[in-house]
Amino acid sequence: MKKILIGTHNIGKFREIGYLVSKKYIKISPLRLKIPSPKETGKSFKGNSILKANFFSRYVSFPVISDDSGLCIKSLNNQPGIYSARLAKKHGSFFKAMTFILKKMKNKKSRKATFVCSLSFKIPQKRIVTVVGKLHGNISKKILGSRGFGYDSIFIPKNETQTFGQMSRRKKNRMDHRYIAFKKLKKKIKIL
Ligand code: IMP
Repeated sequence: MKKILIGTHNIGKFREIGYLVSKKYIKISPLRLKIPSPKETGKSFKGNSILKANFFSRYVSFPVISDDSGLCIKSLNNQPGIYSARLAKKHGSFFKAMTFILKKMKNKKSRKATFVCSLSFKIPQKRIVTVVGKLHGNISKKILGSRGFGYDSIFIPKNETQTFGQMSRRKKNRMDHRYIAFKKLKKKIKIL
């Protein structure tokens, strides 16, 4: 069977991307191969996903798919954005980072937010293909639900009433920013 490296150390993302990639691939995690994480020095989601695909590709001789994603909140100047993981690290947990965000948004009129995901695909020695997927929605007033990962419990997708944290994994996986990005990627890379 063919192999693909899913270039993320985040277990939540690994599962989601693994679910999207065709069953004909064995999905390998960098954790399993003891590959470290690259420094995220990019200035955009796209820049970081390209950087990750190039980095992981140096360690393996099979295709790599990498992701960079995060939550952009309109009334907070689109923060935490590419710093979404770093904000949680700074606060000690995602729960604390979500509490911090909700407090900061207490008096904000707009609760609009967008989950963004850039996916990059690279076959060794070949050029990279990169796409970006976005999902608009709103930040809830409270932390709701315990499913999913990261900021799932404060994000309500447009036209929905529940946060990602309250939804079934199956439902989230078929509508989120990663799914939208993956659909675009699949149009360009038929073998996925
Ligand atoms: P990075 O792409 O490794 O820099 O991490 C992005 C951060 O955004 C992660 O720590 C995630 O927790 C958060 N994030 C990205 N996608 C999702 C999602 O689908 N749900 C919840 N949080 C997410």
